[in-house]
Amino acid sequence: MSDEVTEERTRKDESAGGPTVPQEGEAGPHAGAGHGEPDKSAKKTEDAPAPSRAEVSNYEIVEHWFGVAAERLELPDDVAAVLRSSYREVQVQVPVKLGDGKVHVFSGYRVQHNGARGPYKGGIRFHPEVDLDEVRALAELMTWKTAIVNLPYGGAKGGVNVDPSKLESHELEAVSRSFMDKIEKVLGPTRDIPAPDVGTNAQVMAWLMDEYGKLHGHTPACVTGKPIALEGSYGREAATGRGVVQVFQEAARELDLDPAETRFVVQGFGNVGSWAARLMQELGATMVAVSDASGTIAAEDGIDAEQLVQHVRDGGNVGDFDGSTEEIDPDDLVAVECDVFIPAALGGMIHKDNADRMSCRMMVEGANSPTTPSADSILNDKGVTIVPDVLANAGGVVVSYFEWVQNLQHLRWNEDQVNERLREIMRQAFREVADRAKENDTPMRPAAYELGIERVVEAASTRGYI
Ligand code: NAD
Repeated sequence: MSDEVTEERTRKDESAGGPTVPQEGEAGPHAGAGHGEPDKSAKKTEDAPAPSRAEVSNYEIVEHWFGVAAERLELPDDVAAVLRSSYREVQVQVPVKLGDGKVHVFSGYRVQHNGARGPYKGGIRFHPEVDLDEVRALAELMTWKTAIVNLPYGGAKGGVNVDPSKLESHELEAVSRSFMDKIEKVLGPTRDIPAPDVGTNAQVMAWLMDEYGKLHGHTPACVTGKPIALEGSYGREAATGRGVVQVFQEAARELDLDPAETRFVVQGFGNVGSWAARLMQELGATMVAVSDASGTIAAEDGIDAEQLVQHVRDGGNVGDFDGSTEEIDPDDLVAVECDVFIPAALGGMIHKDNADRMSCRMMVEGANSPTTPSADSILNDKGVTIVPDVLANAGGVVVSYFEWVQNLQHLRWNEDQVNERLREIMRQAFREVADRAKENDTPMRPAAYELGIERVVEAASTRGYI
């Protein structure tokens, strides 16, 4: 497995730049889709330059790390075979009549990887590149992640291969409701609880909850990441970025790095990246470069994260933020000298052809599977401390867990309580992973996988499932 993965290829990513930002002159929102045909209109790309990505799939990346940990744990082959495969994989047709009067058929997926430790939990992604392979990988990642931070959940993921930036709000609502109608039978507060991921947000969760409620009665605990007005949790929106910053603080202590003196780079300025940037800035750190699908900017003296958020809220993109910044080639983002690099976009963006150019002391993975195994080993050789995705971006699912608990109990915690409880869990998980890494003399990633896999194996065998 590892050898296959190290033979990775890279490509100029055609769609990473395209899906989220509509461009002037592009074909209209529904171009190219015909009645009854799988909808390809969402695959339309734009001219914005995009950094190269590895042609190693998320699935290969997760499988690689599972394989490494399984070998170290000496898992018997039959047990490893159960843990490698998904418990249930649902693929559905999501037909929606869009503004052009035609029915567009999207593909929807929900994969439940392993439920030994509790109900399945994982986000729903709306993105044109979504396919079964990717959803499968992300579901498995959720199994290990929820176990590493010790939540009573299994792992799942879902998605629809739609480009939300090309839809009107009522069309997005129709896609969300249609998808829920097709998968509701395998969901529920004690079965499987979706949450937001790339391309979905609190509003989408509200539509999903409302649709589920039509069939089952009002059930706020059926999804998390809901708006505050609909029993969402305070602190959920910022939670993944906050968790990234909390584990950064733990790791910084070990490296003797003063947060106020830290220079950092953020790749991807969406939910995770923009919150991580703002919270790093609150600690006094300086953002020296940042990107989104539209472009990449850098500034020696720093880019104000709050102002950039406001600019994006007002309809702008990172690429057209004017502050006193310089636009740079997206491929050069990784080479910007900094203390901390935070990938917070898509998978496979740090690969064997650009890892060597990286110039940071620490990488805290906000995104899922941003680093290929070959890049990981290059960075380890360079002495870069990597706080891996399965630990670093678990803040979102931790606060989703808090939201579910609050919904089940019909009470609400205030934001300080949420943030403090999140810190306790992230700190504890960081300690457990870092201690194990020290003990084993390995980087944190294999230590994290081992911890997660061990917990799942214990639960599955104690139940009598394996
Ligand atoms: P989002 O859709 O809010 O933001 C994604 C950002 O990445 C956007 O700014 C987009 O423009 C940018 N992007 C896309 N392609 C890019 C490219 N080629 N170069 C630079 N930037 C690019 O998504 P999000 O919720 O912030 O998720 C980001 C990552 O974090 C994903 O990998 C997701 O799986 C992971 N994650 C999210 C959560 C969560 O709670 N939202 C939790 C855990 C992990």
